[in-house]
Amino acid sequence: MGCIKPSGETPTGMPGSDAAFNAFAAMQPRAPSATPVEARNGRRVKEAGVPPQGVYLPNNNVLTPQMRSPEYVQMSNAAAITLGIMPGRMHRCGCTRCLNLLLTYPEGCRANCAYCGLARHREAERDYADRNFIRVDWPAVPMQQVVDIVARDGGNSPFHRMCISMITHPNSDADTVAVLRTWTASIDPSVIPISILSNPTTMQREDVARLRDLGADIFTVALDAATPAIFDRTRGKGVQSPHRWQKYWEILLDARDVFGPQKFGAHIIVGMGETEYEVLALVQQLVDLGGHSHLFCFFPEDGSLMDHLPATPRDQWRRVQLARYLIDYAGVRVEQMSFDAEGRVTGYGLPMPEVERVVTEGVAFRTSGCPGKFRDDVSACDRPYGDSPPSNIASFPFQPNKKDLQKIRRQLRIPVVEG
Ligand code: SF4
Repeated sequence: MGCIKPSGETPTGMPGSDAAFNAFAAMQPRAPSATPVEARNGRRVKEAGVPPQGVYLPNNNVLTPQMRSPEYVQMSNAAAITLGIMPGRMHRCGCTRCLNLLLTYPEGCRANCAYCGLARHREAERDYADRNFIRVDWPAVPMQQVVDIVARDGGNSPFHRMCISMITHPNSDADTVAVLRTWTASIDPSVIPISILSNPTTMQREDVARLRDLGADIFTVALDAATPAIFDRTRGKGVQSPHRWQKYWEILLDARDVFGPQKFGAHIIVGMGETEYEVLALVQQLVDLGGHSHLFCFFPEDGSLMDHLPATPRDQWRRVQLARYLIDYAGVRVEQMSFDAEGRVTGYGLPMPEVERVVTEGVAFRTSGCPGKFRDDVSACDRPYGDSPPSNIASFPFQPNKKDLQKIRRQLRIPVVEG
């Protein structure tokens, strides 16, 4: 950690002596247990052979039908509510601006990532289409029905972006292409731009280029782990999962070449055992390559191999959120920031009034992701409550109000401005 400067500057957001953080040693996932043969590879669903009949709401006391991409996709509750195919209201949100479409198969995702509700080890317990993912259920919907509803609204659609989320499955590459073609046959990608959340493990450079040629605007890689050691233990050999850090970087660099500056990025989950310095050095590396980072706050997803572990403490999360925003959008470099001996941010590389201005503006604390139609630093991908409960919001799916900002300032240990 030779780049860590001793903290001698602005004490903004300085960790308190009692501040906790999710250290590497404490964030060890459980080992996956073996799945009984009769539950492997979606066998229950395939043997029952129930034909799908339109929209499927998870865990609704009916036998899970046999649904398969590209005819079917799953989407978050927020997207289903916004699309009008499911009743419901979201706390302090009218709608979501990003339509995330997740590929679906009875066999589900063949990877076993420790923090993920979709992971393979859950076969014994729950059919794929019934598994929770980033804290919510994901209804399954016929792809053509999705397209028909969005095409009807045209330029008035509430969605600022559509994103196809791949999973680890032998058909995932071909089906992503098929879903993309179904969408662009009816919806102009210049009206609703398209992102791809990729699965590098099954991809080659030609696959990246094909998606660009078919109309995708931004390509992201769900790196998720901030260091090779965390990657290996949460989504590689450590949990009998097929992913490799090196392969993820190979496809990330292909995306840089194929999609170009500002059109590629990586997802990173904060709080799985990396130091604040390590994750911010990665954020800087992505900016230097011409890309962006999209941050998620670690949340112990029910049923995952990390559901016994603590969510990221809010002070750790807020420091990283703020520092990442400054690196991505304010031209500050990680080398200008200062860190304590445990890698925690102690200075943001800017004079206090400027840090205060960014905190007060609040955008740094919103969800980060591919941009929508409002401004470059406001993500279309607002993922309402995808990384926290509404009672203790990590990533704000809307502009934080005065009360929210007071709470954020307390979490950052910046004096609260009253009035
Ligand atoms: S590859 Fe993605 S969907 Fe599959 S288990 Fe890992 S994080 Fe979950």
